Amino acid sequence: DPIARLRRVSRTYGTGAAAVHALRGIDLDLPRGAFSVIAGPSGSGKSTLLQIAGALDRPDAGGGVEIDGVALDALDDDARADFRARRLGFVFQNFNLLPVLTALENVEYPMQLGAGDARSRRERARELLAAVGLAGKEGRRPGELSGGQRQRVAIARALANSPALVLADEPTANLDRATGAAIIELMRDMQRRLGTSFVFSSHDAQLMGHADVLVLLEDGRVTAPDPRATPAAGA
Ligand code: ADP
Ligand code: ADP
Repeated sequence: DPIARLRRVSRTYGTGAAAVHALRGIDLDLPRGAFSVIAGPSGSGKSTLLQIAGALDRPDAGGGVEIDGVALDALDDDARADFRARRLGFVFQNFNLLPVLTALENVEYPMQLGAGDARSRRERARELLAAVGLAGKEGRRPGELSGGQRQRVAIARALANSPALVLADEPTANLDRATGAAIIELMRDMQRRLGTSFVFSSHDAQLMGHADVLVLLEDGRVTAPDPRATPAAGA
């Protein structure tokens, strides 16, 4: 089954004359294990789509979302929070790291939910930081790291609980081009090594060549699924 299945997903902000139709009836399957890119200009609905796929927002009535085989509409708010914490990883354009915690502590933080003891959590956080190229930087706080390094910490944190799906909303928006390209390469590498499904959004055409599946959004509609996108993509 696909990692994400959206059916008739619309999202309207506001009502009446002030209504904004951010998404207009999206039908979309993203294959498991793939690196999927949602591309489109600013305001096309990318953030809204990722927030709905990430169980951070709900579609208008009539739409259905299934992530990792779970129908999100059936979950109450607590169950959705639990689903997010255990099954999803998030990477944001503003990194969203906790500034008072070290890199190592930021990666350990989401693992408190899991079964392991403090020592094994610390060990896993070290391994993840090494995997994203930050060995030796474990004790740095976010303010002592570059933008690219902060996003590497965020990627390690997103992977901490071995999520089924990592959602990254414009993860390169606050990075220069070379650093952004390196961050995409890193996510690509993690997707290949771990088999984790990734979805990232971008308005930058130069980053889209990395996709197994490319979905073009315009004004809340899918205008072009990539011709390379097949049911076997990423398998
Ligand atoms: P993108 O990520 O492609 O820039 P967004 O999903 O952020 O697109 O926005 C899609 C449209 O919905 C835009 O017109 C935006 O202004 C509007 N929008 C997004 N979030 C809200 C909100 N919370 N309230 C009102 N309008 C919103
Ligand atoms: P981007 O275009 O980089 O995806 P935005 O700046 O459009 O991001 O949106 C950032 C956040 O603000 C999102 O959570 C989005 O839902 C919200 N947002 C976007 N547009 C509006 C709006 N017109 N009114 C209220 N919230 C908005």
